[in-house]
Amino acid sequence: MSRYGGKGRSKGKPEGFGPLEGQFQAIFDDFFRRPAAGSGQDRRIPMLVSLEEAASGASKVIKATFEAHCTACKGSGVLHGDPYVTGCPVCVGKRHVLQERTLTVKVPAGIDDGQVLRLAGQGDEAPLGVGRAGDLMIEVIVAPHPCLRRAGVDLFVEVRIDAETARRGGRVKVPVLDGERWIRVSAGTVTGAEMRLAGFGAVRLGAEAVPIPAEVTAAPYRSRSVGDHRGDQIVTFVVGESIADENDDTFELRRATRNQGLGRTVALAAALVAALIGAFVLGR
Ligand SMILES: [Zn+2]
Repeated sequence: MSRYGGKGRSKGKPEGFGPLEGQFQAIFDDFFRRPAAGSGQDRRIPMLVSLEEAASGASKVIKATFEAHCTACKGSGVLHGDPYVTGCPVCVGKRHVLQERTLTVKVPAGIDDGQVLRLAGQGDEAPLGVGRAGDLMIEVIVAPHPCLRRAGVDLFVEVRIDAETARRGGRVKVPVLDGERWIRVSAGTVTGAEMRLAGFGAVRLGAEAVPIPAEVTAAPYRSRSVGDHRGDQIVTFVVGESIADENDDTFELRRATRNQGLGRTVALAAALVAALIGAFVLGR
């Protein structure tokens, strides 16, 4: 049973939304849609969501500006007095006034960056107060996550383990959508080795937004029921030299520079630059 109106596992549309559209389709709509005469215009706004909110669904409260029909002049822009016709002081002749409304937007679980939600009738009001209002087009912008990357329904994360754990095997914490999970590292793990955590990925759009598993179970980490609803999370191991290196930014730098065979030169250059900056600052 889907949370969206009992459409089960069909690709049902979330309630309150029109079809999900690609970014460019929505832009074409903006340019080529010919609203019926007298109807309101569509509005387009961005909405920032976290990777977690996009992957698992959320409810967001947003404020959206729209052109409201000016009730003072009934959308004519003028007031008919006696004996003069004067410009409407409320809308200053524009025939509409800007207003803001607060909306609760249901972010469908599994939506991705660049997709557009259309809220029917939440755009500009019809200028004359009669006729249909435009729609509100909400472009979803997914903020980058500090460690998780998303491609489709799958998530990717790089996890560093120390050489000892890699050689002998052990346990290590992995960041997941709702926090962390312990996973078992098998003995002899090398840099680039992958582990797939089934059902830890983003919800398949339209599927039921089941939570990610409470723990990573024994190999092969495959849960059919959860996998039907969510993608996977792929862990890629990077073997470091010691635990101390894991929390150290210089680990990354050293790894990169070592690969280029330039470690010594770069370190020397960095020291030189630091010394020069220090001298400059002190000199002032
Ligand atoms: Zn007016």
